[in-house]
Amino acid sequence: MAQGRVLVVAATHGNERNAPWLLEQWRRSPQLLAAAGLELQLEIGNPEAFAANRRYLDRDLNRCFRPDLLTDASHQEREVQRARMLLAEYGPDGRQPCAVAIDLHSTTSAMGNSLVVYGRRPADLALAAGIQARLGLPVYLHEADPAQTGFLVERWPAGLVIEVGPVPQGLVTATICRQTQLALEAALDTLAAAASGRLCLPQRLQVHRHQASVDLPRAADGTPLATLHPARQHQDWRPLQAGDALFWHADGSALGFSPDDPEACWPVFINEAAYGEKGIALSLCRRESWVCSPGWAEALAELLLP
Ligand SMILES: [Zn+2]
Repeated sequence: MAQGRVLVVAATHGNERNAPWLLEQWRRSPQLLAAAGLELQLEIGNPEAFAANRRYLDRDLNRCFRPDLLTDASHQEREVQRARMLLAEYGPDGRQPCAVAIDLHSTTSAMGNSLVVYGRRPADLALAAGIQARLGLPVYLHEADPAQTGFLVERWPAGLVIEVGPVPQGLVTATICRQTQLALEAALDTLAAAASGRLCLPQRLQVHRHQASVDLPRAADGTPLATLHPARQHQDWRPLQAGDALFWHADGSALGFSPDDPEACWPVFINEAAYGEKGIALSLCRRESWVCSPGWAEALAELLLP
């Protein structure tokens, strides 16, 4: 594996336009991005979907990186083929192997500038903690969700998603671009510190750990019977109390929040436009504070040290 090379992906979802706009600027003028001396590969994740301004053409590229899909020759959807191409080029055993993948996304939810980490790989946690120490960004830790698997960064030795919102699909705004760049530069600064063996992690990593996803109430034929309640719109990262209005019916009545687990009260990805088809109106997290282990920074350094 080539040590130290970092893959930066934009437009894994073709209608998330901010990061690919930035990526084009960085390609034209590399000095615009503070790369901290790292060797970067800048790549459009799904060029065909990007050209069509659609999230995907055949299936969600960011759910295609499941080993069973990638190795099953009966799957020839365009996004599965693209996933195989990205791995053949930039995967750990690819032609231009990268040790780390940073996947840049935007969301219609008011997530602000945030990080998504999949599971508990020590190197990922080191990267998240390093960015959190630099910018204070919240971390959504996604795990134990059999309905949502096959994320791009999971196929690289380390990586995470930078998720910025709210911004409508298809729209580029300076605010979202600026936040995206700040988070990426903090990630690259963290990786450069790890690569030189001088990464200092904070004492603790604050995480919002995924517990469950909640769908809209629906009729038997799948028709939604309510929308998100207006009091919940753009209230990501703000805890819910039992009884808080969650959904809104056309007659003006509200359906309240009734938690299975009172601690799983921290909502994220509220009313994300792309998640309607996945049956997700919001996801619920527990908020936890984890002690950073020295082994995390060592794991990340191992991937990056020359
Ligand atoms: Zn996305």
